[in-house]
Amino acid sequence: MSTGPAQAADWEPSDALDERLTDPERLAFPEDYTHTESWQRAITERNEHGGPINEAERMVWLEDSDKPKRVLFALIEDDLHAECGCASWQYRDWCAHVAWCWWKWVRGHIIVHHMDTGRDYRHPPAWLQFSGDRDRDVSGLTPAELDAYLTCDLAGVGVTEYADATDRVKGTVGNLLSRARVKVEGER
Ligand SMILES: [Zn+2]
Repeated sequence: MSTGPAQAADWEPSDALDERLTDPERLAFPEDYTHTESWQRAITERNEHGGPINEAERMVWLEDSDKPKRVLFALIEDDLHAECGCASWQYRDWCAHVAWCWWKWVRGHIIVHHMDTGRDYRHPPAWLQFSGDRDRDVSGLTPAELDAYLTCDLAGVGVTEYADATDRVKGTVGNLLSRARVKVEGER
């Protein structure tokens, strides 16, 4: 049951985070991923060793490994991005470590950080979508515009409700949203 502080001391925070974040891969689930060996391994894992080492990355240490793996698992723009240093990820873009992160996140056991807006998510947000091609480009939005756009337009939260939840007046969120829409959808 002990998580061993001595082990944690071996994990260095990343200096190279900015470099790594230049183009992390968008997470794509393999077809039928719940039947993959990685998924089965992730959901039967009882080991709780590991933890976040910075806002984007965590160490994931599965029972049958002798070493933890460093996993990037973070929200950027309107996507979930993931990367792992293990061989399975390199060859198949899917592995038990990333599967573990998703399994834990869905159950509310880990917090995932949004690198642009600074928000922490205890569960996958409603705006996160994995299927279909999108031509939406949110890269020009400010953090506050992006946050409003994701929450209100993509996840369908009411402007008043979101303003109340974040201690702002409705007009502030409404203005952010208007500016975001113009940038994303173009001038009309
Ligand atoms: Zn991995």
